[in-house]
Parts: sequence; structure tokens; C-alpha cells
Amino acid sequence: MSIPTSEQKVIDAVPKQLLIGGEWHDGGGGETLAVEDPSTGETLVEIADATPADGDAALSAATEAQFAWGDHPPRERGEILRRAWQEISDRADELALLMTLEMGKSVAESKAEVTYGAEFLRWFSEEAVRIAGRYAIPPNGQGRMLVMRQPVGPCLFITPWNFPLAMGTRKIAPAIAAGCTMVVKPAQQTPLSMLALADILQRAGLPDGVLNILTAKSSGKLMGPLIADRRARKLSFTGSTEVGRELMKQASEQLLRVSMELGGNAPFLVFDDADIDAAVEGAVLAKMRNVGEACTAANRFHVATGVAEEFTQKLAARIGAMKVGRGTEDGVEVGPLIDNDQRGKVDELVTDAVGRGAEAVVGGAVVDGPGYFYEPTVLANVSAESRLLSEEIFGPVAPVVGFSDEEEALDWANRTEYGLVAYVYTRDLGRAFRVCERLETGMVGLNQGMVSNAAAPFGGVKQSGFGREGGVEGIEEYVETKYVAMTLP
Ligand code: ADP
Repeated sequence: MSIPTSEQKVIDAVPKQLLIGGEWHDGGGGETLAVEDPSTGETLVEIADATPADGDAALSAATEAQFAWGDHPPRERGEILRRAWQEISDRADELALLMTLEMGKSVAESKAEVTYGAEFLRWFSEEAVRIAGRYAIPPNGQGRMLVMRQPVGPCLFITPWNFPLAMGTRKIAPAIAAGCTMVVKPAQQTPLSMLALADILQRAGLPDGVLNILTAKSSGKLMGPLIADRRARKLSFTGSTEVGRELMKQASEQLLRVSMELGGNAPFLVFDDADIDAAVEGAVLAKMRNVGEACTAANRFHVATGVAEEFTQKLAARIGAMKVGRGTEDGVEVGPLIDNDQRGKVDELVTDAVGRGAEAVVGGAVVDGPGYFYEPTVLANVSAESRLLSEEIFGPVAPVVGFSDEEEALDWANRTEYGLVAYVYTRDLGRAFRVCERLETGMVGLNQGMVSNAAAPFGGVKQSGFGREGGVEGIEEYVETKYVAMTLP
């Protein structure tokens, strides 16, 4: 099947090489990496595959650019981000189509990510000029104390495929604002959005070497030596807890500063005093956004027994009516999963739950044909031992479990090693505060099904990682504190 002209044009506009020191290069080994359309399983394009020598060159470029970039006027750093935000906004339709081609979700969802992802550039363009230190008189009145905030230095970024643009911009934008240089390795499944972003930032005036992009088939072989390299000063990773753990081990060799945005297993709690229709709407968003392939996705629904049947039926009606198909088609709300492995994992979890007595109210099966589609699914009567209550599903599957009181709901919510986000629906203000305060998560959606916002600190606790992205907190990951003790002659 050939690629339609409009789609080919969007792919043609993207650089296919590595960005090192401001120049686009082929991979040193002459190899390429195939980027696939998950709705057809066919190759869209071949791009450069970086070798460890390319990685070394990229870190050299970032290191060389660091001093001058850290000294660059903050206002100008901000204006580069602002210009890039403007260009992404102007080209949002084209960038959304590109994202859908490599990642699968509907064009409407890709467009929402383009807006969300670009917003980090605008937000941090405004924060670039607000990185302030501190001056103080010590308690004994002797001398003075000065606290400086300086860029941490060259950063390494590793990003996942589920939000190909936004997972990059929420690291890249604060790093640029703070005056750090960087080497970025996007996921091998979805490198095109990152290449398009790099091209935009270069043209917005980013000096050579500040942003270097490496695309590669084997992330471990490429990034391992860079994580061990003393010129790197910071590693920020978004991806699975399993890989995050491995990267932390590697980073411990040189005590590299790390930020980790890892997996989640978000509980979605619906109390009997909740507005059930609003809870269903929130549930659709929390579950079905990004085809369920989000670390913030509601993984399990815990619903007060008195309203569980009503909630389940209404959720099944909404989710069952969603149109499944190639993300570029009109009206499609649910695209394919990223690959066959991912779909296999989802199917295995559903099979396990059904084997333990769960009932598929809607869906519950793989969709035949090309592409990696899975039916939007709601499962009722899910038993407590089912694997999908404790494992991250990363697909369009909503298991519903009842609870009898607030204590039981909280017990369910916190019964996981993850701690990224939880969703709570209640109209009782006292309960809302009690529950929010006792949830062991970095974020809570209270009567809303989506928490992501460039102006807010995104991040987790427990095995969902640490560090915060976005908000006024986001810049903290990229500045180091230096204290100067002064004697006044
Ligand atoms: P996901 O389950 O979302 O695919 P992964 O944690 O496997 O998440 O991948 C997230 C990112 O981490 C991707 O860019 C991938 O290439 C990279 N990655 C995976 N394994 C390693 C590794 N051992 N070392 C460095 N990067 C890795």
C-alpha cells in the first residue's frame, strides 16, 4: 500500500538525520532505523541510526556549547522558546498528522498533544527570566550569604513513544530556559515528532550544540556510555519503571543527577455521593485518552457498591460506542496500540481477568486485520487477584471493582508500588480533603479526569519516580545551587 500524498509531504518535511553540533548527519555506521505506522504495520520512512561514536560527538557538542549557553541572556533564551511555540502553533495540523502516522492515536488527540507539548515552550519562555537566587544576613550578623542558581550543565534525555512531542518539550523547554545544553534520545518507535521539533528550535535561533538529537535502534548501547561519561551532569528519563531502575543503577556510578517519570497504576475512585454522569465523563477521558497508553491512565475503577452497576453500565455505553480505526480517519476516537507486543500484553491481562471470573460488559478482544487494534473494553466483577489491578495495562481496558466504604477505597487506592496519580469523584468537601491527603501519589484529579497541564508540577512518588516537570517546580531540575559565604572587608 502506498502512502497518500498528503501524508508523504508531512513525512518528507522532517529531517531524517542526527542533529549534532547544529548540523544534520547520517549515523556513523551507515545503518538506518525503520519507523512504522502502527495502524498498518508498514514502514513510513527510514532514518539515521546513531552509533556510540555519534553519541560521543553529541555529548562533545553539548559540552562545548554549555558555557556560552549558560551565559546567554535569559530573555533571549525565552524568546527562542517563544518563537518555537509560535511555529508549532502555526503548523499544528501538519505536526498532528505526523504524530498520528508514527504513533497511531487520532489526529484530534495528536492535535491536543501538539497544543499541550508546545505549551511547555511558552510556559518556560516565561520562566526563563525568573530564575532568581537569594541574599541573606547570617544569624550572627557577620558577613553576608549569597545563593546563586546556575545551570546544572549538559543533560541527557531519554523519552518514550506514547507522547512523542510533549515528553520531549517538558524536559527540553526548562533545560533551555535554565541555560543547559542537552543530548536527546527519543523512542525508536516515534522519533519523527522530535526531529520536527529540533528543526523548529534550530530555526527559532537555538545556538548550535545546545540541542543534539540521536535516534537509534538500540537505546542501551548508545546511552550507556553517555550515562557513564563525566561530562554529562544530569539524566532525565520518562518510561517504564523497569528501565528507570536500570538507568538509576548506571547513573549511580558517577552520582549523576536524575529525574525519573516512570510507570503508574492510577486508581479512579467513585464515591456514592459523586455526580455519576460527571464521573463517567472523567473516566472516559482518564481511561481512553491516548488509547489508554499513558502513565496517567486510570488503570482500575473502584466504585462504591451502591452506584457500581449504574457507573459500569454508563461507562460501557460510552466506551463501547467509541469508533476504532486508523487515527487519520474522520470520527475515529480509538487508534491502534503502538505495536504487537503491547497489544499482546493487554490481551494477556484481559484473558487473565476473564479466567478469574470477570465479565466483559463490552469489548475484550483483539481486532482482526492489519494494525495493532484492541477493542475498547469494560470488565465487571473483576476479582482482587486479577493481574490487571496490579500491573500497568497501557491499553483501552477499564476494570471495575466495588468498595464498601472510604477506608476500603483508600486501601485499594494505595495497594500498589506505583504512586503517580489518582482520580477521585465526590461532592463531599470533607471527604475530598481526607482522601486527597491520604492518597500516596504525586498528583490527584479531583472531580476531573485529566491532570496534565504545563503550569503544574507533574510527577510521582514511590516507584513512579521523582522529580517534577512543568510548573514553577519544573525549572528546579535544571538549576544547581551555589552558596557564597562572604566576609565584607
Ligand atoms: P515503554 O514501555 O514506554 O516502551 P521503555 O522504558 O521501554 O518504555 O522505553 C522508554 C525509553 O527508554 C525509550 O526511548 C527507549 O528506547 C529507552 N530505553 C529502553 N531501554 C533502555 C536502556 N536499557 N537504556 C537506555 N534507554 C533505554
